[in-house]
Amino acid sequence: VFNHLLRAPEDPILGVTVAYNKDPSPVKLNLGVGAYRTEEGKPLVLNVVRKVEQQLINDLSRNKEYLPIVGLADFNKLSAKLIFGADSPAIQENRVTTVQCLSGTGSLRVGGEFLAKHYHQRTIYLPTPTWGNHPKVFNLAGLSVETYRYYAPATRGLDFQGFLEDLGSAPSGSIVLLHACAHNPTGVDPTLEQWEQIRQLIRSKALLPFFDSAYQGFASGSLDADAQPVRLFVADGGELLVAQSYAKNLGLYGERVGALSIVCKSADVASRVESQLKLVIRPMYSNPPIHGASIVAGILKDGDLFNEWTIELKAMADRIISMRQQLFDALRSRETPGDWSHIIKQIGMFTFTGLNAEQVSFMTNEYHIYMTSDGRISMAGLSSKTVPHLADAIHAAVTR
Ligand code: PMP
Repeated sequence: VFNHLLRAPEDPILGVTVAYNKDPSPVKLNLGVGAYRTEEGKPLVLNVVRKVEQQLINDLSRNKEYLPIVGLADFNKLSAKLIFGADSPAIQENRVTTVQCLSGTGSLRVGGEFLAKHYHQRTIYLPTPTWGNHPKVFNLAGLSVETYRYYAPATRGLDFQGFLEDLGSAPSGSIVLLHACAHNPTGVDPTLEQWEQIRQLIRSKALLPFFDSAYQGFASGSLDADAQPVRLFVADGGELLVAQSYAKNLGLYGERVGALSIVCKSADVASRVESQLKLVIRPMYSNPPIHGASIVAGILKDGDLFNEWTIELKAMADRIISMRQQLFDALRSRETPGDWSHIIKQIGMFTFTGLNAEQVSFMTNEYHIYMTSDGRISMAGLSSKTVPHLADAIHAAVTR
């Protein structure tokens, strides 16, 4: 009965790893997927995660019962505190509802489904470019997807004018997806002053902000600094949604731990919103997994463990920043044509190199370096040892 099926293409991001795995070359390098690697190129489990996991295993009073539909209560409370700040008025006034979801993707999807069902405007505006999964998640959730200008290839920076113009002409009430920090794939973020102008425009047009926070702490190394744009919008008392992921900042990729928070106008509305979120979640996956959320809650509620986390998080962020400098220096020392300063200016896990699809495929074929065809490279996949190989490949690609 499935004979008519055509083979579907690989996912454009995860497919890079599939191709990488098939390559027998000893010098191959995977800069496709946004997962942190150590200097030795190995995945990293944070010490603080190992510690809490050990505690969980040793605690024989724990069981594997189902969580409630909305997930682990402690985890939800602490996640809201992490993104909004401990002294957030929205939290103090009980105007926030937070539900544990399947990492960032699941939080976006639950938020999207909720909006499609209950919000009066069904159009969501995404930046161009954006994370490749965004349009698919929101389309399948039942929203229609539009775009706003974001990145200016000529300056390799923000197209702030285009950004404001496009939001300015969006129909009142439209949903706007905003990357909270470390925009993927460009690594280009608005300044705080620009965020303030964006906020004013969004509020004056009654647009509904939906933040995607997949990199809190990973951009600058500071959890509070990376949450500033979100907190700016909470401070004005208006409504918003936030999808949080613990994949990158706690290295919990495969545990699928995340949260969706919806900030409402009153405690009463928030509790009705939560009751409706349960109706979205229950037929989708019933309730979320317990293990990852217990790890996160264990870390967030303990002052010492929390401090340990911030130190490990900063170390990851700093290693990425140092990779940026090393790659920039390596291209300069090769006198590679072009201005490569965007490598050190961009923020977060990725550099949007500006290399085109043809140059990318040359680098893959000749140098066994794997990345998405838009020229995005994961700085977290680089090390001091592999920087020269990458710089040689970029130099060869642009001087061909
Ligand atoms: N949003 C953005 C912008 C991302 O880059 C990612 C991860 N690549 C996610 C959401 C979701 O990731 P996850 O579902 O693994 O938390």
